[in-house]
Amino acid sequence: MDSAIVMGSGVAGILAAEVLSRHCGNVTMIERDRLDGSERDRPGVPQHRHVHILWPAGQNILESLFPGAMESLHGLGAPRISFPADARWLSTEGWLPRLPLTKVFTCSRSLLEATLRKRLTKVDVRDNTTVTDLLTDATGRVVGVRTRSGDQTQTMHADLVVDATGRSSKLSQWLAALGHTLPTETVVDAQMGHATQDFRIPQEYTPNFTAVALQHRPPHVRRCAYMFLQENGHWRCTLAGYGADYPPNTNEGFLEYARTLRDPTLHSLLTKATPVGRIAAFRQAANRHHHWEKMRTWPAGLVALGDSACAFNPVYGHGMSVSALCAQALERWLANGAASTAEFQRAAARAASGAWSIATWEDWRCRETTGARPTIKDRILLTYYVRVLTAATMDSTVCADLMNVMSLLKKPRALMRPDVVLRVMRKSRGGCCQVAGEADHPLPEAIHRTRDLPAHRPHEAGD
Ligand SMILES: Cc1cc2nc3c(=O)[nH]c(=O)nc-3n(C[C@H](O)[C@H](O)[C@H](O)COP(=O)(O)OP(=O)(O)OC[C@H]3O[C@@H](n4cnc5c(N)ncnc54)[C@H](O)[C@@H]3O)c2cc1C
Repeated sequence: MDSAIVMGSGVAGILAAEVLSRHCGNVTMIERDRLDGSERDRPGVPQHRHVHILWPAGQNILESLFPGAMESLHGLGAPRISFPADARWLSTEGWLPRLPLTKVFTCSRSLLEATLRKRLTKVDVRDNTTVTDLLTDATGRVVGVRTRSGDQTQTMHADLVVDATGRSSKLSQWLAALGHTLPTETVVDAQMGHATQDFRIPQEYTPNFTAVALQHRPPHVRRCAYMFLQENGHWRCTLAGYGADYPPNTNEGFLEYARTLRDPTLHSLLTKATPVGRIAAFRQAANRHHHWEKMRTWPAGLVALGDSACAFNPVYGHGMSVSALCAQALERWLANGAASTAEFQRAAARAASGAWSIATWEDWRCRETTGARPTIKDRILLTYYVRVLTAATMDSTVCADLMNVMSLLKKPRALMRPDVVLRVMRKSRGGCCQVAGEADHPLPEAIHRTRDLPAHRPHEAGD
């Protein structure tokens, strides 16, 4: 393969471009935004204002592609925190023990993206340029793209075109216009909205943790929040609500919403903090799987990865790590001769499968979730998964197994090992069907009491 074009310079695009640069002489990455070096407030990536964490699966692959990048991020102030040890993490089923089970990066997405893009030494980056269409030859093979920059249009040819244009990808329309029959997309939409604000917390109130995760408790409690220390010493706080219970975008509304969370830790900190900048809102958080791997006539010369293939409800923090897993799959596919693009799409789907299971299982627990319904197998797995979450609040071994799965280092099936199942069953008696709207039996009161700390004692369990 001599040449490749990568459409989009988000995390998925950057990682794919780096992989391709090891196999092709000419790699061009096309980005519609202007990349002026600061990477702040670029419209093509509205999510960059919201909290982003990078789990170990993503860290390991980034480090293998860009040796030294993680250390460099750390040097630029990016917090690398021990999870759940450095966090106050109230899961849907209760507090997780504060043990050093895994490490996550919590810097801004802009810093991460800029750090990686700077390390692309063999890639020609064309910014301020929008891809408007795919070019094909007489056999239907994709052979390039049509672009627009200002009032200039251009055609560019390559042996391989990679779609990494994210949630806003036009690939469905382009493929339909080329006469392809598209597979049915799976959408699971928990009707979620996010609002994010940065804060400065005075020195005297600096807490003994660097992250707060206060999850919802489906189906009754729909609000959740995530707050992480950033590279500049500010705290970035994202409030989110399932079932269209959207957080407001005024300072007073933001604080009031925070007051109604399951635990007062975060609200109490915010009342002492100073907001920095404006509140950012985001509402397109549905899980969306295009199933390109199921397409009968996937064209030669084209692959799709990252959010443009499969996007997740962002509260589980998996999109960047799945993009990294897709880049790893791309590397393997190229190393094995890159024979069939359809084969790559199957590998990309496998790379996304663990994160997809976690996100959809969680979202089906919300009453207002629309779209595809869980299969019987999903229902059984979800019921068991909730028991794992419950057991993880009481058993550090189960919590460690759960962290490996959340980190995407292991697939959810790792939780089905007989020894894990035994521990889970011992610890989590009294589970019930967890698909909202179908059997909303609240868990027994006694279990509630042991798992959810009372609101006036925020600092005791797990500390
Ligand atoms: C609120 C929110 C919070 C999130 N938090 C996390 C988190 O904590 N952890 C995590 O791992 N993931 C998180 N994600 C997901 C994560 O941002 C993405 O999954 C990940 O960055 C991969 O995105 P991508 O590169 O595929 O697409 P994007 O990041 O959307 O990048 C697509 C790029 O393509 C460009 N583009 C689009 N169309 C064209 C075109 N026609 N021509 C040229 N360029 C084009 C865009 O300008 C953009 O630069 C979050 C997402 C959201 C929405």
